[in-house]
Amino acid sequence: MFSELQLHERLLKALDELSFKQPTQVQQEAIPAAIAGQDLYVIAQTGSGKTAAFVLPILQRLLHDDSKPMAPRGLILVPTRELARQVLKDIAALAQFTFLKAEQVTGGEDFKVQAARLRKNPDIVVATPGRALEQLTAGNLDLSVVQTLVLDEADRMLDMGFAEDVGTLADACPQPRQTLLFSATKGSRGLQRMIDQVLREPLNLELNSVRDDTPAITQQVVPADDNTHKEATLIWLLQNQGEGKTIVFTNTRVMADRLNGVLRAKDLRVYVLHGEKDQKERNLAVERFKQGASGVLVATDVAARGLDIAELDRVINFDMPRSGDDYLHRVGRTGRAGAEGLAISLVSPHEWNLMSSIERYLRRQFERRLVAEVPGSFKGPKKVKSSGKPVGAKKKKDGKKDGKKAAAKPKKPKAGKRPSRPPVGQVVTSSDGLTPPKRR
Ligand code: AMP
Repeated sequence: MFSELQLHERLLKALDELSFKQPTQVQQEAIPAAIAGQDLYVIAQTGSGKTAAFVLPILQRLLHDDSKPMAPRGLILVPTRELARQVLKDIAALAQFTFLKAEQVTGGEDFKVQAARLRKNPDIVVATPGRALEQLTAGNLDLSVVQTLVLDEADRMLDMGFAEDVGTLADACPQPRQTLLFSATKGSRGLQRMIDQVLREPLNLELNSVRDDTPAITQQVVPADDNTHKEATLIWLLQNQGEGKTIVFTNTRVMADRLNGVLRAKDLRVYVLHGEKDQKERNLAVERFKQGASGVLVATDVAARGLDIAELDRVINFDMPRSGDDYLHRVGRTGRAGAEGLAISLVSPHEWNLMSSIERYLRRQFERRLVAEVPGSFKGPKKVKSSGKPVGAKKKKDGKKDGKKAAAKPKKPKAGKRPSRPPVGQVVTSSDGLTPPKRR
């Protein structure tokens, strides 16, 4: 219950108004620590309720602070304009029974108009690093009394090249201050450097980590003979999977351009996004894609970094991504905020091992699916024993043959150990071309 988190009654009233009954896991863990003044390093994803997890403690602190400085006391840095807008909306909703005000400072808006709004003395500023730094340098943004600094989606800010700007902005905030850092992924060296630079003995909360935060997404694998077969399958999927928005990921710019042509020739509404396009072209493609109720965006990983496109119906991997984390970044774009998502990977014979290693990394087996309307000869690896075990599995020491019993009852992995590679070759396709997910 939120009432157990010792929140101000005006905040409880807003939560009631919003029908937020129970704090999410990240809110339950982060809010008390943040209210106690601790620095936090939180691994949590979009959809976990992370925004309220940092907004509520800021509002709580401001509600108990009678000083009336002429500068913002909270600074929230986010990677994109869209996310800034979303956070601002969340602040307005949570602060609706208070007099606290927030302002947005992001690119694409008139600089002077923005400066004028900053002079109205907002309590909290939500900003992208580039524009915040420009306003700071121009003397329009005063960070000298910031009490709480939030770095939201820090990993994406790093991906977008904002490390230095974030460091400069953090240095412009006074010490002591509180810093709350949120990231969807962990472990990069850049992120560790940022943590060392801006946080002070942070409490590390690892919640809803991306690895186990994709249960709402149906993840399928479609075997494909080669790129030509993949193209035919992709066209069939786009024409027959129903309305909605799809991102198709490729590993290279050349393939993205090629697919753009192939899909346009089929009269599909297609936009393409890759590193060779300039920022203006990219923004235009994204805006148009966002506006329509349906459409296809063909993108490479680099170009799609930092994109905030909600309400995606499906993600299709035309090429298998090169790592488990890249897979998660791609697939995490569908099925947001509790909505069900669909991710389909087209997998050629030489990508099969890579796909299996991603399954092992995620500790889950994807659904095998055959698209009957676009038949191919590759249906997954063939070399499978009658027991269902892949060729190469160890024989039993006592020399007994693998009997029915062993096949029906695979050994459970020992507690604490990662399960071994999911057995390949368990695929039995049903008449509609769909195979039920086989869980071990
Ligand atoms: P976020 O992870 O901050 O993007 O939040 C995801 C969605 O969950 C947003 O639409 C929030 O309004 C909503 N949300 C956040 N906290 C709660 C809660 N405790 N109960 C219900 N919905 C929530």
